[in-house]
Amino acid sequence: MSSPRLQIDELVIGAGEGDRSSTPVRGASLAIGAGEILGLVGESGSGKTLTGLACLGLFQPGVRPVSGTVTVDGQAISALPERERRKLRGPSVAMVFQDPLSSFHPGLTIGSQIVHSLLDRGVSRADAKKRCLEVLGEVGLPRPDAQAKRYPHQLSGGMRQRAMIALALANRPRVLIADEPTTALDPTVQAGILRLLRRLADDGLAILFISHNLGVVAGLCDRVAVMYQGQIVESGPTAELIGAPRDAYTKTLLAAAPTLPEPGELGIEAVPVDAPRVAAVVDVDAETALFDLRGVSRHFTTRSRGRRSTVHALDGIDLTIRRNTSVGVVGESGSGKSTLARLLGALDHPSTGQVSFDGQDIATLSKEQMRSFRRRVQFVFQDATSSLDPRYTIRDTLAEALSTHGVREPGEQSRRIAALLDQVRLPQQLLGRHPRELSGGQRQRVAIARALAPRPEVLIADEPVSALDVSIQAQVMEVFRDLAENDGLTLVMVSHDLALIRDVCDTLVTLYNGTIMENAEADTYYDQPRHPYSAALLDAMPNPRHIGRLPEVLALGEPADPTAPPSGCRFHPRCTQAQDLCASTVPLLRPEPGRELACHFPLQVAAPARKAEL
Ligand code: SF4
Repeated sequence: MSSPRLQIDELVIGAGEGDRSSTPVRGASLAIGAGEILGLVGESGSGKTLTGLACLGLFQPGVRPVSGTVTVDGQAISALPERERRKLRGPSVAMVFQDPLSSFHPGLTIGSQIVHSLLDRGVSRADAKKRCLEVLGEVGLPRPDAQAKRYPHQLSGGMRQRAMIALALANRPRVLIADEPTTALDPTVQAGILRLLRRLADDGLAILFISHNLGVVAGLCDRVAVMYQGQIVESGPTAELIGAPRDAYTKTLLAAAPTLPEPGELGIEAVPVDAPRVAAVVDVDAETALFDLRGVSRHFTTRSRGRRSTVHALDGIDLTIRRNTSVGVVGESGSGKSTLARLLGALDHPSTGQVSFDGQDIATLSKEQMRSFRRRVQFVFQDATSSLDPRYTIRDTLAEALSTHGVREPGEQSRRIAALLDQVRLPQQLLGRHPRELSGGQRQRVAIARALAPRPEVLIADEPVSALDVSIQAQVMEVFRDLAENDGLTLVMVSHDLALIRDVCDTLVTLYNGTIMENAEADTYYDQPRHPYSAALLDAMPNPRHIGRLPEVLALGEPADPTAPPSGCRFHPRCTQAQDLCASTVPLLRPEPGRELACHFPLQVAAPARKAEL
């Protein structure tokens, strides 16, 4: 490498004082050249973000540099006084964070904030305005003049992230630190941002890309450095490191990273184009149907700046969920996934239509029947911390759940508590601990154990592992798989991560803008994407096996506004396959072997981009 744009040598960062002092970064070294993207990978607390901030000479309260040097574009930023460092931030090195809202001032327009960042560097107002529009265009925002006049909250998540990248690039930095810049985005939107970063690097920018996601890093980065407990344990070219990892921690990370099969890999027999329309997924009799939804809609009224609007969270859903199945509910943010889960769990009620459980409309259940329903159907939420009482030990939490459902005899309670801990693979020694004394993964397993206490028939889990590190996610998903396979539970799992639920769910319901696009057997879904929206979701999923290959962008733009659903097929403004009929006529869910599908022009066995690779 010719002289690197960013070089970190033996960086040591300390935190805290006295007994509570620690060394969260312990001798990290790395270098990045022009036009190169280095992925810095590791789990929460590994020291990635502190290392990234140190590249700008920034340290959080209580955190301090101890030794080592950070050189940006030939200047040792670590040796400069703060006044001099500040001059380098913007023109030499800039940073993009996970949450753009925390970087933008909510009361100022996007344009004025970009212009100010240029004025601060001595650029004339006329040139600053010109550069502002130019950089908004560079990051792919449509109609930069209109976007410049908008406030941060008026932009969608993906547009806001592009605007933040524009703010970082305004002063033409030589090095960009991107800290989990796509973690909060839907995979379909993430795919566009990753392509933007690759293009910026190809134009000469040096990028430090901080991420916990090996799939994203495999596709985007030229080289990878793996960080564990403040040290870089392994680094090298992406293909070498992912193809043949040497360090035990890298191997653990890779083993835990969920992957998707390639289309055709599962060897499902292809569906002939004119196959007889046989209902497979939908062929359910009353015996096997546990939940049955007919014409279910859920609308909310919102008010913003004096204007009333109706959010179409769900619209006209017909769906049957069979006993002893595990159903994944997938789709982008705002597609209606969580609303559907809440209706199934009777945590909410439909605006119109009927949700039946075991043959009876939930709306007509008596108090006594509702009590029984609450025992039979249990919920697990994303945030275990807020769902557990911090004052209770794990034993208290489980004992209370058992008492509520009539198990009060101390001996029986103890036996059941021990069995519950075994079921979720937690050691008995944890019984006396409080939630704050457990890791995130342990807390989520306690939440699952509590849900299992009344021996429910149905477990509804809403993004149960999305807040956890990848190795912990894998452990918790194994618990769910066991429950579905061995305990005869009916599992409904909401997730935006198709790779994560791949080994757990046998059926996938795909929602978009409040409607069902596809309801398919999992193997058929993964092996032969037929609905263009499902194909777009699958192609957008990062995959550690796809080294140097970025996810495809098969869904144009961002999800439709639920207050103004598009006409005809709701996906048509984003669909690369759309034809005139799609804008005018709603496609009905039609059965075919292994799936129900709402599309006028389904893909023939595989999406074009995927087909070319086979
Ligand atoms: Fe695309 Fe048309 Fe099918 Fe909708 S109906 S998914 S717009 S091809």
